[in-house]
Amino acid sequence: MAENNILLKSTKGVAFSTKSISLTLVVPTVVLPSHSSNSNSLVSTSLNNKVLVLNQSYEPVSVCNAKKAFLLIYMLKAEVVAERKNRTLRSVNATFPFPSVIRVSAYIRVPFKKIELSRKNILRRDNFRCQYCNSTNQPLTLDHIIPRSRGGTDVWENLVAACVKCNNRKGNRTPEEAQMKLLSSPRRPHHVMFLKQFMGNLDENWKPYLFID
Ligand SMILES: [Zn+2]
Repeated sequence: MAENNILLKSTKGVAFSTKSISLTLVVPTVVLPSHSSNSNSLVSTSLNNKVLVLNQSYEPVSVCNAKKAFLLIYMLKAEVVAERKNRTLRSVNATFPFPSVIRVSAYIRVPFKKIELSRKNILRRDNFRCQYCNSTNQPLTLDHIIPRSRGGTDVWENLVAACVKCNNRKGNRTPEEAQMKLLSSPRRPHHVMFLKQFMGNLDENWKPYLFID
């Protein structure tokens, strides 16, 4: 963990490429909240914290770890849009905000990523929760909101995760007929919606960009 504690050096006048800097640039010390133990393992964990990367247009494009985010900021290839509270990165003579959301300074062309309509992806979109009773404990099925026998099709907007109990209760009816309210209106997911799956606890700072309620 020695590299985490080596202080940041000035790079003024030093020509470097992105490739070489990743080998030579050292990450400054992470300063954790005073109530935390500033152990090497915590520093290491902090630098692996996930950071949401926004395009120049503010559209989310990916996630990276804090170490990579810091390098992008340091090289002026990105700016901090939202920072983590109670946490900073410190060099010899400067303190940097600990990034939570960054925005790249040059627009990145992102190929359109179509999320395949599949049982697995519908369950992922719905957070593996029954969209009628919010249960996660029971085996989940797919429910056609407008039943197929009534003309409902296999589209993102007509398919939701439902527990066996709710699916059986709803039967061949619409939610209105069965008086079963959906937790939310199902939509086609943007691929970044799935990024939260990597997160565990989603950072509050990300929500405005991922459009999550
Ligand atoms: Zn249910």
